[in-house]
Amino acid sequence: MAAALFDAQGCLSPQGFAQISAAPPGQVPAELAAHLAGCMRCQRRLLAMAMPSSGPARRERPPLWRTGMVVIVCLLLVMMAMMLTQILNPPAR
Ligand SMILES: [Zn+2]
Repeated sequence: MAAALFDAQGCLSPQGFAQISAAPPGQVPAELAAHLAGCMRCQRRLLAMAMPSSGPARRERPPLWRTGMVVIVCLLLVMMAMMLTQILNPPAR
């Protein structure tokens, strides 16, 4: 009976999640709560189930200015490297 609450990998099965969401707060079966407390994978799955994926996207794309900043910093680093090579290797006269 209790084994059906866990899947083959030892994580919570859909029945286990259903039992957690059906139980009133504080009344979750102890073995399910214990596994959930120590298993990041099940915590993420529970969060993913609690949040409707069809709703407005909570995940925001990084702003464009940040991407531009990274590109500019990379260009600056390349320019500094080129200047350093010129300083260290002066052209032969
Ligand atoms: Zn798990």
